[in-house]
Amino acid sequence: MTVYLVGAGPGDPGLVTVRGAELLARADVVVFDRLAHPDLVDLAPPDAERISVGKAPGRVEMGQDDINRLLVDRGREAKTVVRLKGGDPFVFGRGGEEAEALAGAGVPFEVVPGVTSAIAAPAYAGIPVTHRGLSTHFTVVTGHEDPSKGVGDVDWEALARVGGTLVVLMGAGSIGEIARRLVAGGRSPDTPVAAVRRGTYPDQRTVRATLATIGDAPVQAPSAIVIGDVAASDLAWFETRPLFGRRIVVTRAREQASALRSRLEQLGAEVLELPSIAIEPIAFTLPSLGDYRWLVLTSANGVRALFERGLAPVGLDARALASLRVAAIGSGTAAALEARGVRPDLVPARFVAEALLDSFPAPAEPGERVLLARAEHARDVLPEGLAGQGYAVDVLALYRTVAAAPDSAAVEAVRAGAVDAITFTSSSTVANFCDLVGELPEPQPLVASIGPVTSRAAVDRGLHVGAEGVEHTLDGLVGALVDELRSTGQAPRAGR
Ligand code: SAH
Repeated sequence: MTVYLVGAGPGDPGLVTVRGAELLARADVVVFDRLAHPDLVDLAPPDAERISVGKAPGRVEMGQDDINRLLVDRGREAKTVVRLKGGDPFVFGRGGEEAEALAGAGVPFEVVPGVTSAIAAPAYAGIPVTHRGLSTHFTVVTGHEDPSKGVGDVDWEALARVGGTLVVLMGAGSIGEIARRLVAGGRSPDTPVAAVRRGTYPDQRTVRATLATIGDAPVQAPSAIVIGDVAASDLAWFETRPLFGRRIVVTRAREQASALRSRLEQLGAEVLELPSIAIEPIAFTLPSLGDYRWLVLTSANGVRALFERGLAPVGLDARALASLRVAAIGSGTAAALEARGVRPDLVPARFVAEALLDSFPAPAEPGERVLLARAEHARDVLPEGLAGQGYAVDVLALYRTVAAAPDSAAVEAVRAGAVDAITFTSSSTVANFCDLVGELPEPQPLVASIGPVTSRAAVDRGLHVGAEGVEHTLDGLVGALVDELRSTGQAPRAGR
């Protein structure tokens, strides 16, 4: 019964407001433009109606009248309608017209302001739109992308006299003409200009020039163009992050990808998910835990499977493990246990099966029992090693990893040599990735592996491993990857 005109922010999905995210999370209908970030649309409940109204290749753009009518119709039917608009809804977004239509039809609406690209794109390029001693005010003006409309209805000569900072939106196509008129109006041809294209996105680019030279510079839409003394500022922070401009592939299963993804994104990378494996549950019957001295877990997936499906229909809770000692390989496994109230008794310093064997205490009496709960078809090192130490070992298979259905766009990007690095976090991701993608193009992108077992699997498949985590964790992997890319100094391959 209410239509919310929500500002999506300039691009980076982290720049949506808290209020905007809350409304998206309970939307019945989301109406968005084609350029809206998919992560924001994904915030809506899975069964929400999603309507794209933007330009799309091979499809006619929905006219503003049709959009207004759609908002009125849906606003009458549905409880919460979110109209997601780039930047701020009332800055050149035609949000005012949508609000007028809703008001005219008597449909209640609210406006949730957003972070406008007019300020955010310069900020991400290291340009403050006002600065003590340089600029006391800024003016945001449309440049009219469409050349047929001309730049006529803005008094550029008057704007030239106003001075200060000028931020031109929708001006990529007409900036040469705009610059001429500003100079004609009295602004110095040496005035600095910075055009920030796709500001706040991982492929942000800043073109720097002056009013005299910007007409010949490669300015492409969508750009926020800053004109004035502040445009010479280069308080770079975004484009200087260690993985900025890098496209990096994450091959983990969809459910597991987010931790690695967010680490890479924080360092500036664009992440392509190409899950090469999927986790398939196996039906299992939990043996009587009281019969065991030790429970050994080797992955966060195993922990999840054990707790969620260990005791039908409600799952296990920590008390079921009260009489056991618990060992975990890997900090991710340990963290998954701790999240469920179990602090493991033993986590070996190195996160491989061999290290667990080295640190595993001898049985107090021969034949003491160990339950090893893990993936089907794992290596024999652990069960054999523990048996060799005098334990009676039972293996409980909780899940299996299977080949994932390929995402063709990601596979194509890899084959086309348009990625900088590929990350592997287990042997099974290596094998399935190679089956999915085939041979890597030359020169190979950087192959980064979490540890020696994974690296060996990669080498066996003919890959050259260029980076391996010193510590066999996600942080170790990311650290090695960053160091390697920095030391080779190779230019990003994303082809932009
Ligand atoms: N309401 C939006 C502006 C819509 S007009 C806002 O507040 O940001 C569309 C214009 O905004 C584009 O032509 C471009 O000039 C600018 N723009 C939008 N997103 C941008 C981005 N990420 N980087 C640079 N400019 C952007």
